[in-house]
Amino acid sequence: MRTIPYGHQKIDKKDVEAVIRVLKSDRLTQGPMIREFEEALCGYTGAKYAVCVSSGTAALHIACLAAGLKQADEIITSPITFVASANCAIYCGARPVFADVDPKTANIKPGEVLKTITKKTKIVIPVDFAGLPCDLEEVHEIAHRNNLIVIEDAAHALGAEYKGTQAGSCKYSDMAVFSFHPVKSITTGEGGAVLTNNKDLYKALMVFRNHGITKDPGSIDEKMKDCGWYYEMQKLGFNYRITDIQAALGLSQLKKADVFIEKRRKIAAIYNKAFNGNEYFDFPEENNKEKYSSYHLYPIILKDRFRNKRKEVFLKMRNNGLGVQVHYIPVYLQPYYQDLGFKKGLCPDAESYYEKEISIPIYPALKDADIKYVINIIFRVFREIDRS
Ligand SMILES: *Cc1c(COP(=O)(O)O)cnc(C)c1O
Repeated sequence: MRTIPYGHQKIDKKDVEAVIRVLKSDRLTQGPMIREFEEALCGYTGAKYAVCVSSGTAALHIACLAAGLKQADEIITSPITFVASANCAIYCGARPVFADVDPKTANIKPGEVLKTITKKTKIVIPVDFAGLPCDLEEVHEIAHRNNLIVIEDAAHALGAEYKGTQAGSCKYSDMAVFSFHPVKSITTGEGGAVLTNNKDLYKALMVFRNHGITKDPGSIDEKMKDCGWYYEMQKLGFNYRITDIQAALGLSQLKKADVFIEKRRKIAAIYNKAFNGNEYFDFPEENNKEKYSSYHLYPIILKDRFRNKRKEVFLKMRNNGLGVQVHYIPVYLQPYYQDLGFKKGLCPDAESYYEKEISIPIYPALKDADIKYVINIIFRVFREIDRS
């Protein structure tokens, strides 16, 4: 039986041609496509600077480095996210601290952020879970009152809108991070980007992306700056460069981002209508004027009477060809984090959300017949389990 996944890329002939053009050109990496893709991302989001890298995880890592995150510092993030949002702190020797989430949206609560700030806190990494923008202005305000840097993890949110700005505009953050993994809004295979409006952060990001090496005449040895060969490694950076092959794909994909997001929103509207008033689960609220989701995910939240049957519901859906997934196991419940001393019960609303969540298929290539099929199977599964 065919499986309808929860997310999937959409690649067309133009994407393929864009990649082939680079493959036939002189430069497979460090060529002109990266700059072009970065400029297009700035155009799309409204941010001044973009630095493309090899993954969203690399983007989070260099964002933390550019923010000056060091050993013994703390960052605050959401437990309902992919592990990378917290791991980036550990890469820098810092400690992630988790703030509990809104039980409906699974986005971090500004009040919980405030409660978890300590003298060691340096960065807040809010996540736009499922593509729904978090309360970024409130988080930003709290952060700036406490001298903290905000890195918006917008890995789900390219194409989302918040208070009249595009996700990633950095109007309410110091940096924003995208991922171009195939399940995200647009793809480069693997890839990611950091956006910022701050020139110093931009310069630091560029250096950390490329081994910590700089050729900037303003910052290298005065006596050496007219030698053609000279460069300085001033920091410990990484090879987090994206290739021109990927950047060409990203540029081609970005041209279709609005069409992709429109399709996701249409699917969400069909689901919302079909699920309206059902007695089995809650589903995302309609968009409002302030927040316009990119619908990276469409999470359904089982009603309390099904909480102990989530596994049964999930497996029945899987057995009927729905490639459903659960987003996310709270990060601190992962064995690695448990070994660091994090305890169950830390963020009760996040844990409760996890126990009731199932992400159902939503992606631009989903066909109308598939949408109908998904809806039918979901109702059938709940009816069967309800009767048993
Ligand atoms: C996908 C994702 C990342 C990591 O991106 P990669 O490109 O897979 O490294 C980080 N944070 C969130 C919330 C994500 O969904």
